[in-house]
Formats: sequence, structure tokens, C-alpha cells
Amino acid sequence: MAERKPLISGNWKMHMNHLEAIAFIQKLSYALDQADYASADVSIHPPFTNLRSAQTVLDADSIPIALGAQHCHWAESGAFTGEVSPAMLAKLAVRYVIAGHSERRQIFGEADEQVNRRLKAILGAGMTPIMCCGETLQEREANQAEARIAAQVDAGLAGLKRDQVGAMVVAYEPVWAIGTGHTATPDDAQAGCALIRDRVRANFGADAAAGVRIQYGGSVKPANVAELMAQPDIDGALVGGASLEAESFSRIVRFRLQ
Ligand code: PEP
Repeated sequence: MAERKPLISGNWKMHMNHLEAIAFIQKLSYALDQADYASADVSIHPPFTNLRSAQTVLDADSIPIALGAQHCHWAESGAFTGEVSPAMLAKLAVRYVIAGHSERRQIFGEADEQVNRRLKAILGAGMTPIMCCGETLQEREANQAEARIAAQVDAGLAGLKRDQVGAMVVAYEPVWAIGTGHTATPDDAQAGCALIRDRVRANFGADAAAGVRIQYGGSVKPANVAELMAQPDIDGALVGGASLEAESFSRIVRFRLQ
């Protein structure tokens, strides 16, 4: 089994308009070179309104950064006011779609069953899902973290094929570490990612477990990325706040030089 190439993803959340996105991508592309793209895959996940502009810049300047989305509906089309379909994203050359981010789970009440439907639709449209999971502080303090993560993984991936799971991405994002500045220790982040890989192995077999890329997310910054990425089960990072500055995001992508 080939080594898993790290995937560094920038989740912009509800930040930047399309003009700011264009300027950001140009700045980021000046900061990265071919050696960086050879050592890590990079994706950016702007708001929906920026995808067309971002795709045009990436394509016109042949920038090897993958375009990502933050969410989608599972239906192909229909009466779903405010939603965007996987087919619409695929048409814009979107490659990765985040599903089940904790902000969607907590603020918009997204349940595991909906995350599972989203994953199937994303895969059906030929894109790669990044499924987020992770425990809240309350669950952690009640010693329920492992059970929560396992339940999210089992329910989120239910019914997928082994090869689909082996080619997708799961992000371990402890909720208490997202946007708080409290990064998990490398040992805690490794334990969460190893647990996810174990669940994948138990449910989908050794090949899927060896192939699935598991990101850590939660206050990743240039100063802490290298020690997190050094862990055996961490194959990349899902980055929020620090992905909004080209300088800090490019330093995270170049974590081997930190
Ligand atoms: C995220 O949005 O997934 C995230 C991890 O945010 P932050 O890096 O700001 O904690």
C-alpha cells in the first residue's frame, strides 16, 4: 500500500467574497511551489458564491489546488430552497466536499443519517467527501468521546463500499478545539484518528483502513502543525481560522519545513 499523501484543506466558513477569494488564491499560489504540491495535496473550501471565480482562477493559471465545498444537499435537484446539489458542485470542478462539520451538526441540527445521505450523493457525483466527526467537551468530560466518535463513523459511513471508504477523507475534529485556540495534544489527536481508522478497519477491512486519509482539525496553526502531522494516523489537516491568511495557510501546507 502506497504511503498516504497528506491533504491540507482550508475551510473558509462564511468568510471572503469572490473578489477577496481571487486575491487570496493568487497570493497563496505565489507562496507555494511544485515541491509543496508534491509533498501535500491542498484544497480550499470557499463559500458557494466564490466557487465559480475560484475555479476560473485555478484553471486559468493552472494552479494545482483542489477546489472544495463546505456542504451540499443529497438530492440532484428539487424544491430545497437555499440548498445546492452535488451535481452543481461537480459541474464547477469541485473535488472535495465537507460533510457533517460540527457547525452544521450543532447550529443546523444535522444528524448522522443526513451526513450519510450526503456522503452517498457526493460519491455518486464523482467527488470525494471529507466527513467530519468529533466529540464535544461535555462528551469528553463524561468519558463518552470514543463512543461518540465510533457512532458517528459507523452511522456516517453505513452502506458505503469498501473502495469508496478507502478513497475518501475523514476529519477528526474535537468540537472543543474548533476555533477556540485549544489544539488537541498530538497524542490526543493521534488517539482520535487511530480510533477512526480502527472503526474503518472493523467495518470495511484492512485495505479501506490503509487507504482512508484521516485529517485532524481544531486550531491547527503553523506553530503546531508539524508535531500533529508527525503522528502515524494523521494524514493531513482541516484548517479553519488559519486558512484565511495566505501566509499562515501556506506555512501549514509546508509543515515539513516548520
Ligand atoms: C474547522 O473549521 O474545521 C476548524 C478546525 O477551525 P479552526 O482551525 O479555526 O479551529
